[in-house]
Amino acid sequence: MLQKDLHQAESIPDEARAYIDALLTSGDLFRYHAAKDAPVTLLEQEFAALLGAKYALAVASCSAALFLSLRALDLPRDAKVLIPAFTFAAVPSAVVHANCTPVLVEVAENYRIDMADFEAKCTDDIQAVLISHMRGHTSDMDQIKALCDAKDIPLIEDAAHSLGTTWNGQNIGTIGKVGCFSFQSYKMINGGEGGILITDDDDIIARCVIMSGAYESNWQKHGVNCNTFAKYQNELPLYNTRMSNLSAAVIRPQLPQLQRRIEDGLRNHDLMAEMLNASPHLSVPAPLAPERRAPDSIQFNLVDFSDDEAHSLMRNASEHGVKLSVFGLHSGNARAFWNWKFLGETPDLPQTKAMLMRACDVRLPTTLTVDQVKMVTDIILSSVNQVKHSKAA
Ligand SMILES: *Cc1c(COP(=O)(O)O)cnc(C)c1O
Repeated sequence: MLQKDLHQAESIPDEARAYIDALLTSGDLFRYHAAKDAPVTLLEQEFAALLGAKYALAVASCSAALFLSLRALDLPRDAKVLIPAFTFAAVPSAVVHANCTPVLVEVAENYRIDMADFEAKCTDDIQAVLISHMRGHTSDMDQIKALCDAKDIPLIEDAAHSLGTTWNGQNIGTIGKVGCFSFQSYKMINGGEGGILITDDDDIIARCVIMSGAYESNWQKHGVNCNTFAKYQNELPLYNTRMSNLSAAVIRPQLPQLQRRIEDGLRNHDLMAEMLNASPHLSVPAPLAPERRAPDSIQFNLVDFSDDEAHSLMRNASEHGVKLSVFGLHSGNARAFWNWKFLGETPDLPQTKAMLMRACDVRLPTTLTVDQVKMVTDIILSSVNQVKHSKAA
């Protein structure tokens, strides 16, 4: 029985206490109380510098960041936006919220976008592409970027689960016009809730800042020199989805820990992947060559399992303290596209569906020690053997 709870968070660095204490004393919880250097503004500056982007805007969630990014593109109503069919329900939701229509692209057994289907669906009526790097798996960004550039289609990256991942050495989130990240507790940096977008585009940042809720001349408190802000003042709706200074106080002291979390997460993941791949019943897809991952979970496929066997595996692992879920077998899973009933009719996507019916998801907190990773792996492997051998007997 595993003694460690795989859903338990890591404690917040001690420095946060001093930041929060100062906020409790001053009462300055609103980002626009102070004329400058509010904790949210400092977080934006630090995050932009960390990722190598010109601008950052911190907001209430990654979903809000995706919504604002789409709104900032000024697309016509019902514009078609390509998204992968393997993502979290919040992604098609952000598209719908922005009055656009998501077009779902098939995802392959390796959790990455099927490029043949992407090319086929990237027709002239597509007005934006939103790539969701689901569970931190990076699709072929060279091809995607080239196709978008050739057709002059704006590219947005949902990098909610990819903070620290690189592609040819470049930070994920800086390849598209906008990159959106999450600080929800299950992501690399835990703010409870929160999101941030990065961009180098003067118009996009000005539009996003104002729509996030920089009413009147509050855009002046962002400490960035972007002279396009003034032209949008009062020209755009205010969606008021700002970040509070309290969230920034919790998030900022975690930024210096990011590198350690990335390295430990990758070590844990790769160690487990190697051990799981030794089983003939499991397959962990390899990363793409240009990709350096920053995982805090692992995904792997069941080889030749029936639905019943997959259900038994989930039960066995859970009895030993490891929550293992097969995306498509866990009823109502928000990552299975057929459950996105708010879209109306969902398309038939046999390839993505087949993947979701056999792809397992296990959290792998970056705080796990090598011994704990081995214990989790042993539980998974013995649960698999129990299912497969009891069958053979
Ligand atoms: C978590 C997540 C989101 C949503 O992030 P929120 O900050 O909770 O809105 C979107 N996309 C992916 C890939 C995610 O992992």
